[in-house]
Amino acid sequence: MSKAEYWVTLDSNRIQCRLCPHACILADGECGCCKVRINAGGELALPFYSHISSVALDPIEKKPLRHFLPGTRTFSIGFWHCSMRCPFCQNWEIAHPPSWYPRSIMPEELVRMALKSGSPSISFTYSEPTIHIEYVKECMSLAHEKGLATILVTNGNLLAGPARDILSLTDATNVDLKCYSAKTYHSTLGGELEVVKQFIQIAFRACHVEVTSLVVPGILDSEDQMEGIAAFLSGISRDLPLHITAYRPEYHWTEPPMSADRMKLIAKPAFALLNNVYLSVPYFLRKPY
Ligand code: SF4
Ligand code: SF4
Repeated sequence: MSKAEYWVTLDSNRIQCRLCPHACILADGECGCCKVRINAGGELALPFYSHISSVALDPIEKKPLRHFLPGTRTFSIGFWHCSMRCPFCQNWEIAHPPSWYPRSIMPEELVRMALKSGSPSISFTYSEPTIHIEYVKECMSLAHEKGLATILVTNGNLLAGPARDILSLTDATNVDLKCYSAKTYHSTLGGELEVVKQFIQIAFRACHVEVTSLVVPGILDSEDQMEGIAAFLSGISRDLPLHITAYRPEYHWTEPPMSADRMKLIAKPAFALLNNVYLSVPYFLRKPY
């Protein structure tokens, strides 16, 4: 098993992972709540190192990124598991998989595949890439050596040290800002709002950054919430692009999505405070749901 970074020894039996705000304390043989980092004999190890769940060639606008290599396709890979537990997870089959199949692609091979695809960039996306930070950093370094741009699509639930490390190798990132309530982030989503905000601030200094907010009933469904998000982002830069997208019922969340008219109302404060807002309303919401 590959060895992990970002952990410390606490005592003879326990270690602590210091990658994300969960800060899991693990006895020998125990796995963190992301399920991909394990205490193996007093060292943090990576049973999922190089295990890839998905490979595709996507339009870069699907990440979504509108202000970085527009009109190109990006070689995209996904992983298994996640550091958060959003009950509406749109990628739950790989983020919270009932079962999974092992498919290992080593960094050199992955970059070869990306080059062969003809894409100018490689994206780490779909589920949560940062819990596989050691592998992603290796791939990003190799990708840069071969002239490929690197893209990180992430929940941003990552502590400052590792965030700086991975963002120093990232050319563009899209970060989810799922709501503007610390309570909802902590108790419902399994993340920390302040940590995600800090990640966006670090990213803004390190690379190109765009943000996505998914409109989900019961999570992000009001003008007040959107105003909080937009005010925070405009404090960084009014030009920071914000993508407001519609959720579809998935995983444990069965609430019908917001209507197109309601989404437009919710998005209003963002249009007032930011210069680059992209509201995406799918065709099925343009009629009554
Ligand atoms: S990355 Fe995983 S093991 Fe590490 S603190 Fe976060 S949830 Fe726990
Ligand atoms: S952060 Fe993304 S991948 Fe993870 S549980 Fe939430 S929606 Fe799913």
